[in-house]
Amino acid sequence: MILDPRRAAVVAIGNELIEGSLADTNSGAIAARLAELGVVAEQFAVLGDDVAQLERAFLGLCHDYAIVVASGGLGPTLDDVTREAAAAAAGVPLELSEEVLAWLRGLYRARNRPMPEANVRQARFPLGAQIMPNSCGTAPGFRLWIGGGMLAVLPGPPREMREMLEQQLIPWIRSTCGEGPAVASTSLNLVGLAESQFADQVGDWMDRRANPRLDVTAHFGVLRAKLRASAATREGAQRLLDERARQLRERFAEHLFSEDEPRLEFALGRLLLERGITLATAESCTGGLVAGRITAVPGISAVYREGWVTYSNEAKIRSLGVDGELIARHGAVSSEVAAAMAQGAARTSGARLALSVTGIAGPDGGTAEKPVGLVHYGVCRDGAVSAHERRFAPLDRESIRQYATHTALELLWRSLRSERGR
Ligand code: AMP
Ligand code: MG
Repeated sequence: MILDPRRAAVVAIGNELIEGSLADTNSGAIAARLAELGVVAEQFAVLGDDVAQLERAFLGLCHDYAIVVASGGLGPTLDDVTREAAAAAAGVPLELSEEVLAWLRGLYRARNRPMPEANVRQARFPLGAQIMPNSCGTAPGFRLWIGGGMLAVLPGPPREMREMLEQQLIPWIRSTCGEGPAVASTSLNLVGLAESQFADQVGDWMDRRANPRLDVTAHFGVLRAKLRASAATREGAQRLLDERARQLRERFAEHLFSEDEPRLEFALGRLLLERGITLATAESCTGGLVAGRITAVPGISAVYREGWVTYSNEAKIRSLGVDGELIARHGAVSSEVAAAMAQGAARTSGARLALSVTGIAGPDGGTAEKPVGLVHYGVCRDGAVSAHERRFAPLDRESIRQYATHTALELLWRSLRSERGR
């Protein structure tokens, strides 16, 4: 039986992965890279360091898939057994590679350290395997035919895995599977839109068989719409992609903030820098998270003036000049106090744009009138202040703080977007 060279399986190996002490990030990275070549990873397996189980999995997967890419279990210690399992699945012994052993000894000589005897294991490979050199670690990988499928084993550390994937495996897949259909992809990042609203509008384009195919993921208020088109030629794939991307851009113009960088603060930073508008922030319930996100943007010091964390009423009065009476009358979590905080931040810093956030992150402190998750914002722009209210519930404290932070950035981004070129 000839296996379809465009179908693959991905295996993550390590006891730490099945015990839950480490999340498998390698498999997703491998699948995403294969997808760019038009190779679809149809299955992920996560397995412990167990020779018999690994052998069974390799045999089964190589029976069903033309390409099986595994990572992990190539370390020098006895708990790493991926080499043994691959050899057993192929029905061949392990054989010492004198060449790799000499290279390993050389590595240690260069570090001026004796090579531990344990590392000799890393020079042993299943007989007939193609060795893939490791340019940033001590564990070379290998490729091995098992029945009709090709098993490729990469080292576990993500940096070494990526290097070997890029330098060794991808070129091999390209040369053996041919170029196949060309694939073009892009991502559109949207705010202020729920996943279900998105699906209501463009659900048809999200069919698994659609070309281009549209997938969407949500992360704390940001929707990432990923488009992937395939065609016989690069130009063909690009044309399909461009047309659908244009339709999406038109339909979601209100919400679109970037096409590659998914961090909203970068889109906000770009608008501030382009227009030279200075910014200050005054935070209560987010405790500096908004300032943290804004200062992640390189070069932002040209426009970001100052940020306060005014957690107590006293601090709101002293640092921002909020009227104590106002707090007594409306409470610290109110549109009136949010507006006064934003005005105070603008006045004190001299920034043209100021944002404030004050809310109830919980789990305690909520009332029927002001429940946990209630957040008030103030935006002060050239002296004109507006107040905004959001209710994030029912959520835990950390999620409320994350959503509140994201919404602060969104309000700032919107206030700049709505006044193009001013
Ligand atoms: P190993 O090749 O099994 O010696 O793996 C070495 C290290 O790489 C492990 O201790 C992990 O920190 C990391 N690692 C292994 N597999 C994965 C994976 N699937 N995702 C993320 N990190 C991994
Ligand atoms: Mg391991």
